[in-house]
Amino acid sequence: MHDLLKQILEEVHPLIGQGTVAQYIPALARVAPDQLGIAVYGIDGQLFSAGEANMPFSIQSISKVFSLCQAIQHSGEDIWQRLGHEPSGQAFNSLVQLEFEKGRPRNPFINAGALVICDINESRFAAPTLSMRDFVRRLSGNPQIVADRVVAESEYQHRARNAAMAYLMQSFGNFHNDVETVLRSYFSHCALSMSCVDLAKAFCFLANDGFCKHSGEQVLSARQTQQVNSIMATSGLYDEAGNFAYRVGLPGKSGVGGGIVAVVPGQYTICVWSPELNAAGNSLAGMKALELLSERIGWSVF
Ligand code: GLU
Repeated sequence: MHDLLKQILEEVHPLIGQGTVAQYIPALARVAPDQLGIAVYGIDGQLFSAGEANMPFSIQSISKVFSLCQAIQHSGEDIWQRLGHEPSGQAFNSLVQLEFEKGRPRNPFINAGALVICDINESRFAAPTLSMRDFVRRLSGNPQIVADRVVAESEYQHRARNAAMAYLMQSFGNFHNDVETVLRSYFSHCALSMSCVDLAKAFCFLANDGFCKHSGEQVLSARQTQQVNSIMATSGLYDEAGNFAYRVGLPGKSGVGGGIVAVVPGQYTICVWSPELNAAGNSLAGMKALELLSERIGWSVF
């Protein structure tokens, strides 16, 4: 596995230079573009990695999976009264559909849906930012994980679209807490800095019927785990979930920091990172690396 990962990184390396680092969050636009890392973590605890697998990066939308799991843990099925689990077919930060559909977001992985989830968690946790930080520390077994305050502040300063979505949902009665407070929590989750190794470990419960080995905690039930994986498979890669299913064939979640996490149910989790994105906002080299890995090992769930 180790040799295979090294070889795949060599194969995808020429793609670096052909994508663009996320520009709309100034603190992210400054990230060095020529970085590439991958980690594969087995439910038996085996870890394989290559490249810059220990370099922390901004997890961005990958945090939406953690927020959703916290909401399911603490608020259960009730959350689906506030949002759906259908693909949106729209950009992750689109306002159009939200207006048509009366402030009820299609799924928890577009920004509007993630903001509703953060609103739900805001009502449940005394300190949502700390609860999230501690949650990812437990899941990854890494007590050093922190949110990058510069990135979080940069996002807050450029919050116009996310704020517009939250206020629109508030106008439809689908937002219960102070918008600015929830935005702060949301950006702090997005700004968590984690490495490929951290993320592969933190996602492992999703490959293991909801059980996290590091913390010894049953994070979700086996059924809830299947449900989260199904939403990742249909909505986890922005407006490119179909292409990801076709090329990689695994539940996955990406972020504009260039990370992509994928789950091989019952076996492994994989995290790949390369900051340059394709037109859909997914890591260009990361997508290719996952495609090669899944194809060579025969991991597609389809
Ligand atoms: N913090 C980013 C935003 O809200 C997340 C984007 C992403 O990774 O999709 O725009």
